[in-house]
Amino acid sequence: MEPVIRGELQEDRYSRFRLIPWWDQTKIANCRLLVIGAGALGNEILKNAALLGFRKVIVVDLDRIDESNLSRTILYRSEDIGKFKANVAADAYQRIATDSVVQPLVENVVYGCGLGLFEWSDVIIAGLDNREARLWINRCAWKVNRPWFDGAIEGINGVVRVFAPGVPPCYECTLGEMDWALLEKRMSCNLLALEQNDEGKAPTTPTISSVIAGIQVQEAVKMIHGLPTLTGKGYIFEGLNHSSYTVEYTENPDCMSHYTVPDIVHLPESSRDLTLAQLLQRARADAGTDEVVIEFSRDVIQKFVCPSCGEEEEKYSPAGKLRLQEASCPKDGNLRTVVSVHRFSGSEDFGYRRLDQLGLPLLDLFVARSITHEMGYIPYGDASLVLGTVLPREI
Ligand SMILES: [Zn+2]
Ligand SMILES: [Zn+2]
Repeated sequence: MEPVIRGELQEDRYSRFRLIPWWDQTKIANCRLLVIGAGALGNEILKNAALLGFRKVIVVDLDRIDESNLSRTILYRSEDIGKFKANVAADAYQRIATDSVVQPLVENVVYGCGLGLFEWSDVIIAGLDNREARLWINRCAWKVNRPWFDGAIEGINGVVRVFAPGVPPCYECTLGEMDWALLEKRMSCNLLALEQNDEGKAPTTPTISSVIAGIQVQEAVKMIHGLPTLTGKGYIFEGLNHSSYTVEYTENPDCMSHYTVPDIVHLPESSRDLTLAQLLQRARADAGTDEVVIEFSRDVIQKFVCPSCGEEEEKYSPAGKLRLQEASCPKDGNLRTVVSVHRFSGSEDFGYRRLDQLGLPLLDLFVARSITHEMGYIPYGDASLVLGTVLPREI
């Protein structure tokens, strides 16, 4: 087919894209992209995003590169073994897309990332291998009203799912009984992690990760341009016969993910500048009533209490980060009771704590709720610590 020339004859890096009639390179350049996972899928997602000209990127991954990664990760070399994936991926990205700003975050997305990170983004693309992280991303994305693009690979098969906030079905709606059983297996009943899941151990190839990540990024590009996408559906690719089809999911009316914070305020203070009691004071003033409760983004393990010797140990750590083994009493070895908190109404004894002393990640979201009022607060004074130079949003 003859390309349509639209008056932009200038040859630059993106000139072939501009031959596509609906293409708008500015939309891609301005899009804030959050990539979660820098493994097999993450590498292909980042490679595509860099070639396409996404210029504002954050990449989150907790792991280090090992030799088995090198068969599926175009951004890593053998001299990178032992380095953090997020750091090496960010450097490689900037070498491909030299005018981009990429901030690496060496964090676990479930425990280590504040919701302000999701709120910073326009688009979230995930290359993960576990349900726990997907469920968490799904709930965060809904809360801050952002779309996310999920990919999953196994063997030479894969699936892509697109979830837009406020548009069920969402990822949680797709979970069946078996998924919930596996999810619960990871967490014991008292919010402690039972075991590490086998992240990164799935059988995968670079060919399937490039197929699936290609569709994920292409869907994101389409959404940015306002074109129809797979929203609420799944694209299944079976590599043996190269058959593919789309599945429709159904909304679960009891789904816990369907909640969006109506209003989010960026506070100029950092989490070191504000105590919980001070935040509550501000929220009461905004709501025009004293009947305000501040909800945390997640459960926080406040302390362990030993039922036999009565000794207490303060923790302030997000639920799921502590392991079951840590709950045994150092004095007598008995399993201690976990005391967790997820809200503050003014009467609790930890109001004197600063927001950075609660065990929550930086740039997290605090939702203040009264009967008539609902508002989210993010201490944005911490923005540069988390977002680096990738242009925080306006306060
Ligand atoms: Zn749902
Ligand atoms: Zn004890």
